[in-house]
Amino acid sequence: MSDQAKVVTVPAPSAAAESPASPAAARPVRRPALSPSRAGDFKQCPLLYRFRAVDRLPEAPTKAQVRGTMVHAVLEELFGLPAGERVPERAKELIEPAWRRLLAERTELIDLFDGPDDPALAEWLDSATTLLDGYFGLEDPRRLEPEACELLVETELSSGVLLRGYIDRVDVAPTGEIRVVDYKTGAAPREIGEAKALFQMKFYALVLWRLRNVVPRQLRLMYLADRQALAYTPDEAELERFERTLEAIWQAILRAGRTGDFRPNPSRLCDYCDHKALCPAFGGTPPPYPGWPEPDPGVETALDRAD
Ligand code: SF4
Repeated sequence: MSDQAKVVTVPAPSAAAESPASPAAARPVRRPALSPSRAGDFKQCPLLYRFRAVDRLPEAPTKAQVRGTMVHAVLEELFGLPAGERVPERAKELIEPAWRRLLAERTELIDLFDGPDDPALAEWLDSATTLLDGYFGLEDPRRLEPEACELLVETELSSGVLLRGYIDRVDVAPTGEIRVVDYKTGAAPREIGEAKALFQMKFYALVLWRLRNVVPRQLRLMYLADRQALAYTPDEAELERFERTLEAIWQAILRAGRTGDFRPNPSRLCDYCDHKALCPAFGGTPPPYPGWPEPDPGVETALDRAD
């Protein structure tokens, strides 16, 4: 397998691309890939991974998740503006349009509130403003010119494992030093949260290292709710170890995928699992195993969409 690195941008499928008349063979094959979230799921609980990546069971979006998506969209849009316009007032103006766009894309979100006059909606939109205030308390975006926001990156390790993920922001100094930035809209980390965040950041650092032959100088986590930023400097030896960890996780996923043996691993994180009712650890029965989603030319597999 080639270990040649590449940056890919995957355009949204057009109507023509989805047309049955389009020859599938003409479209690129998207192989199953490992993303930081799905790798984290498997580490936490193999059965949770199966439910999400293989069965692709729906999960009810929470207000906090949707607010996070919206704030990320606003920050991305903010960096698309001329530097002088990147001020708090302008960012706040972007919130409602971002919410309307999200609603148009995912109509089920309408159920989060009792209509446009629900006081909870105004409160929720205000809480997004507070998160943006938190962002501006941490840095001045007028002084930054990111190389990319919401960057989709993909690289294949020499072992053949395909890594894929979205990086919130990549800053590159004139000297070539790379900084990976990740915005967190939840509370600052305690134990598990911190380990998860670091796992995700090392994942991105490894992908960028393999893509560009440069170990990112800094991984910066920005906790907007608490106005706290954590910086972390990875080194080559550590990323090499991390690469082996990811390879081991992928091999374990493939083994489970062949047999369908995705075991539950109960922990206190089960309190946040949407699939408890189907989990044998809580007396439930999972649906029949649908089989491993083999890649099919031109058709995205469940794992492709698992980012
Ligand atoms: S309830 Fe817990 S053990 Fe069961 S699938 Fe969810 S995370 Fe895994």
